[in-house]
Amino acid sequence: MNLSIVGTGYVGLVTGVCLAERGHNVVCIDVDRSKVDMINAGKAPIHEAGLPELLSRNIGRRLTATTDLARAVHDSEVTFIAVGTPAVDGRIDLRYVEAAAAEVGQALRDKGSYHALVVKSTVIPGTTDTVVRRSAERASGKKAGEDFGLGMNPEFLTEGRAIEDFTNPDRIVLGGIDERTHDVLSAVYASFTGVPRVFTNNATAEMIKYAANSLLATMISFTNEIGRLCSAVGDVDVVDVMRGVHQSLYLTTRQLGREPVTASIASFLEAGCGFGGSCLPKDVTALAAQGEQLGVPTPMLRATLEVNAGQPDELVALLSRHFPSLNQVRVTVLGLAFKPDTDDLRESPAFPVIRRLRSAGARLTAFDPIARPHNHPDLQGVRLASSLEDSLHGAEAVVLVTRWAEFNRLPQLLAGSKVLVVDGRRVLDRNSFGAYEGIGWRRASTSGSEQ
Ligand code: NAD
Repeated sequence: MNLSIVGTGYVGLVTGVCLAERGHNVVCIDVDRSKVDMINAGKAPIHEAGLPELLSRNIGRRLTATTDLARAVHDSEVTFIAVGTPAVDGRIDLRYVEAAAAEVGQALRDKGSYHALVVKSTVIPGTTDTVVRRSAERASGKKAGEDFGLGMNPEFLTEGRAIEDFTNPDRIVLGGIDERTHDVLSAVYASFTGVPRVFTNNATAEMIKYAANSLLATMISFTNEIGRLCSAVGDVDVVDVMRGVHQSLYLTTRQLGREPVTASIASFLEAGCGFGGSCLPKDVTALAAQGEQLGVPTPMLRATLEVNAGQPDELVALLSRHFPSLNQVRVTVLGLAFKPDTDDLRESPAFPVIRRLRSAGARLTAFDPIARPHNHPDLQGVRLASSLEDSLHGAEAVVLVTRWAEFNRLPQLLAGSKVLVVDGRRVLDRNSFGAYEGIGWRRASTSGSEQ
C-alpha cells in the first residue's frame, strides 16, 4: 500500500521505517526541513536501537521523506497523523493535530480517489470525531465516513525499544468511523499475523491509550508512595518489599519445575525518582483535565501526578541528610534522558532535580551517555561531562537519575572513595559504596538519630 505519515518524530519515523520494512511504500512528512534532509540521507535524527539499520535499508526504496504534504497525500491511500500533543497549562494542546488535519483536508479537496485519515498521535477521547473531523471536513469540503475514512490507531511503543515494540506489538487497536476505515487499517497491518486486534470506534481507541498509560503511571506512583513509607519506617527496603509483591501469582507465570517468570508489568512496580518522558506526565495530566471539564473528579489521576511531582524532592532530601547545606557542594547528576536507551529529554526527572540543586547553591556536573542537550535552559551553569569518569572528577556526591547500564560501573569507579551515592533508581548495590542513600530505604539507626 502507499502510506503517508505526518510528523517524523519518535512515533512517526519509527512507524514509517517499520511499515516500509513490511513492504509498504511510505512517505514521511515533516515541517522540519533538517529532519527531512537527515532522513533522506539515511541518518536517524533520534537515538533508537535498530533505527539506523532499518532506515538505511529502506530509504530511497520504499521510504522517502518530504516537506510536501499535499503531494504525499495525493500519492498515498492512507495518511497517519503522528505530530506532537504536548500538555500546555495542564491541558492537551491540539494545535499541531488540528493544523495537520486541515492540511491533509486541503490536499483531499481535489483528490478523486478514496483516502483514509488516521490519527496516531495520542489525543484526548473524542478528538478524532470532533476536532480532527471538523478540520479535515472544512478544509476538504468533503464528508468523513462518506468521502473519506477517519480512523484512530494509538501507538504503544516505548522509547528505547521502539523498533522492537512496533515490529512485535502486543496488540493493535483500530478505531474507525465506519467499516471501510477498519478495512483499510486491517490491510495496513495485514502482515502482523497473530497479534490481537481491537476493532472499535475512534473515542474508545483514544481512551484505551489513556487508560493504558494512566495505569502504568499509577503503578509507579503507588510504588513510590510505598517507598516513602518504607524509608520512614527504617530498615524496610522497598526493593525487597516489591520483590515480594512481584512473586504474587497475579504477577508471575509458573510452570512446574521452572523458575517463576515475573510479568513485565512488575517493572512499573519499582520505586524510583518518578516517571517522565513525552507520554506519561502529559497523558495523565490531559486525562485528568478532561475529567475536570466533564465534571468527573479524577482523584486517582491527581494523586498519581502529585506523588510524581514530589519524587525529585525525595532525592534532594536524601542528599541533605549528608549535606545540611548544599551551597557550593559539588554534585554530579547521572542521566539526563528520561529513561535509558533514548536521547529524549522531555519531562525528564533530571531537570527538576537539577533546578532544586541549583537553587540550593550546589556546583553541578551532569553526564548522559547519549543525550547531548544544546542550550537547555535548566543546564545553564552546569558542566556537561564527556564521560562517566570525567563526571566524577572532584564530585562530593553523585545522584543517579537514569537507569543507564553504564552506571553499573560506579562501584568500580568509586571503590574506596567517600563520595556519597544517591541512587534514584535503586539499581546499585548499596553495600558497594562508602556512603549510599537510595529511594525507598534508610537504615533504622539513621532514622532514629534524625527523629
Ligand atoms: P515528536 O515531537 O518527536 O515529533 C513530532 C513531529 O511532528 C516533529 O518532528 C514536528 O516537526 C512534526 N510536525 C508538527 N506539526 C507538523 C505538521 N503540521 N506537518 C508536518 N510535521 C509536523 O513527537 P512524538 O514523540 O513522536 O509523539 C507524537 C505523538 O505520538 C504524540 O501524540 C505522543 O503522545 C504520541 N506517542 C508518543 C510515544 C513516544 O514514546 N514518544 C509513544 C506513543 C505515542
